Amino acid sequence: MSDLILRGRTLSFLRWPETKDDLAACRYEEDGAVLIRDGSIVASGDHAVVAAKAAPGARTVDHRPHLILPGFIDAHVHFPQMQVIASYGAELLDWLNTYTFPEETKFRDAQHARRIARLFLDEMVRHGTTTVAAYCSVHRQSADAFFAEALDRDMLVIAGKVMMDRNAPGGLRDTPQSGYDDTKALIAEWHGRGRGLYAVTPRFAITSTPEQMEMAAALMREHPDLHMQTHLSENRAEIDYTCELYPQAKDYADVYDRYGLLGAKALFGHCIHLSEREADRMSESGSIAVFCPTSNLFLGSGLFDYQRYRQRSKPLRIAAATDVGGGTNYSMLRTMDEGYKVIALNGEKLNPLASFWQMTRGNAEALSIVDRVGTLEAGTDADIVVLDARATPGMKLRMETIGTLAEELFLLQTLGDDRVVREVYVAGRPSKSVIGN
Ligand SMILES: [Zn+2]
Repeated sequence: MSDLILRGRTLSFLRWPETKDDLAACRYEEDGAVLIRDGSIVASGDHAVVAAKAAPGARTVDHRPHLILPGFIDAHVHFPQMQVIASYGAELLDWLNTYTFPEETKFRDAQHARRIARLFLDEMVRHGTTTVAAYCSVHRQSADAFFAEALDRDMLVIAGKVMMDRNAPGGLRDTPQSGYDDTKALIAEWHGRGRGLYAVTPRFAITSTPEQMEMAAALMREHPDLHMQTHLSENRAEIDYTCELYPQAKDYADVYDRYGLLGAKALFGHCIHLSEREADRMSESGSIAVFCPTSNLFLGSGLFDYQRYRQRSKPLRIAAATDVGGGTNYSMLRTMDEGYKVIALNGEKLNPLASFWQMTRGNAEALSIVDRVGTLEAGTDADIVVLDARATPGMKLRMETIGTLAEELFLLQTLGDDRVVREVYVAGRPSKSVIGN
């Protein structure tokens, strides 16, 4: 395959941007380029310098004047919930029982699972997201379908079959043994195949018996390099019920801690109502709190205190995510726009550079995959999104008065969605050859 040069305004992050003017945290080139060979980034930076490194016969795609960024990363999403999103009128536990669990029972049908997995990855790519950490349903075939679709697209995904053996309908429960066996088989089948990474996925403490938590613990001991993903401290009723089910635990986080499930590759969705003790344990163990603003607002769960978690003496590692179908949009731009408002309600601000850092490098760091994705650094995989800040009449008009990169990014976040995504590359391949194949 010949070299591919993407020309445009390239933007990638080196570290957390302290302020909206902290351009030293960014690598930004007004006339920039990315050189792609065999699905990887060979070079990025100034166009003339990058173009000089290309092999003879290199093809150039001119994306000027648009922005070229690393593809977005969504750190927590449920692929079986595409037909749950926009379900009216419930808080977490009712929402699960009324809408989500009945829908997820359909994924025992492998054909249905494959169809939704295909449409889900299409929709993520269409919104500029190139990597997801996804929950499948309890059924082994749902994870087979998801990983197979990701493999077809050569997408880097982290995913797992949920383990859940109680407090759910009959068609949606495994057993401690079958959950363990199916997870083992899925790890053997999919972990490290293509760009797939398996995550041990006990749904949350309410739907797992202590016997199943022991099995999740055993899986993590046997495969310590794997991710673990679950939910923590989303909603008051959930917290109370969890503490009833696990009376010996000090608090909700301690339920997972007792089974050794905290750690640097442990992803905890929500973490809204953490006590100081729980936050300390999260920090000490390097665990990741996943901020899901559209979901937290939609279900009325609460306000994630992003800046306090970052700035406390024992800071938390934070990722950001859509949490579709509790979340209300597939777009990480819409997600961080709502995130900005949640942070504002906590009396803080998130600067636009930091927001885009979070969607790209920040999430890659939180998922321990920054050596592969989340930047435009040479040697990483060519997962890239191209954004147009003039995509709608309203945005085009607003751009007339915008003078800085930070202002442009903030416009993209505040008014942007799938309409601003001009192109997406997954492992160097443009989206038209990635979507719906
Ligand atoms: Zn979730």
